[in-house]
Amino acid sequence: MTIQRRVTRKVKIGSVSVGGDAPVVVQTMAATKTRDYEATAASVAKLANCGAGIVRIAVDTDQDAEALAEVRRRVDANLSVDLQENFRLAEKVAPYVDKIRYNPGKICILEPNLSWERKVEYLVDVAKEYDCALRVGINSGSLDPEKLREYREKLEHKDADPTLMSDDATFFDPPIRSALEHVDFLESLGFDRYVVSIKDSDPETVLMLNRRFAALKPFVPLHLGVTEAGAPPRGILKTRAALEPLLMEGIGETLRVSLTVVADQKEQEVAAGRLILENVASGVVASISDLDKTKLNIVSCPGCSRTQSSRFVELAHTIDEATVFARSYPLTVAVMGCRVNGPGESDDADVGMWCGGDRVNLKSGGTHVGTFSYEEVVEKAVELIKEKISAMKQ
Ligand code: SF4
Repeated sequence: MTIQRRVTRKVKIGSVSVGGDAPVVVQTMAATKTRDYEATAASVAKLANCGAGIVRIAVDTDQDAEALAEVRRRVDANLSVDLQENFRLAEKVAPYVDKIRYNPGKICILEPNLSWERKVEYLVDVAKEYDCALRVGINSGSLDPEKLREYREKLEHKDADPTLMSDDATFFDPPIRSALEHVDFLESLGFDRYVVSIKDSDPETVLMLNRRFAALKPFVPLHLGVTEAGAPPRGILKTRAALEPLLMEGIGETLRVSLTVVADQKEQEVAAGRLILENVASGVVASISDLDKTKLNIVSCPGCSRTQSSRFVELAHTIDEATVFARSYPLTVAVMGCRVNGPGESDDADVGMWCGGDRVNLKSGGTHVGTFSYEEVVEKAVELIKEKISAMKQ
């Protein structure tokens, strides 16, 4: 089956191109501790060998940045680096990578007196100097706080003044506004070597946000993904339900399937990405309606170098198994590996957990319930889920 793909700008990332007439690139992310450069290099090599066109690595410290130099020396792969708060690490890692991902929701945190525009200008200068591409990586779990504040304010006043928000704007506001703002700013700097991602843990939201962005900025290559899709096989189905329809519409130039699996099984993400492309090529694709059979939505992140405890993946799988009884109830349960997207996702969930080294933070409807050991938290979470189901039945 021939898909009529849209033609975006082509962005070179190491030896691959994203967009234009290039085939869709499957990418993934290493989940080893970045500072353990031997394990990280081995993981990157394995992922590149099984078909990852780009492998992303999280960097938060100088030690991580130094490790990247070693990874680059040892492996021939297209490397992307994931920066969150510490945008200044860009100049330390750029010599060793092909792409830098920044998160508009996190770049505002360090050096708060410096405007986001000056920070992005700095990233563009670094990218130009070291021949790197950029990714503007919007994630619903860590949105720009200013956009969220404005959005909540509008929501509060919309009953008094319905003209404040159309239905469309109510839904799409913060992530789309954030993406458009950064695209317009990068364009104003004359920098065009970038891609955009707009991810959410809800597949339907991913579908709608990316459709909308693609209509507004058709020339910008899109990196597709459902963030925190969870463990396979459900995580794969959630991702398929969002990405396959988009790709059938010709939208999406690169993709990642985020699965909650341990670091040495990350090749499952690449295999799932390739499966999606095969499905699209054959025209047999999943849709959002395939997800309705299970109403319980378990959101769990894929884990990465930032995961504070290796017990996080086990916890996510245990919660998945312990909540079989709740599958027919429309509840969202989040299990997150660290504080980067953990607090945001667990605020949005009916029952949310985000993991520290020895303790897990538990929330109910966004309210902090307590901090528990990995053993205790499963029982506490199940209790909360049962309470919510009882309340629904009344
Ligand atoms: S929330 Fe999960 S995937 Fe995201 S940075 Fe933390 S450990 Fe990594």
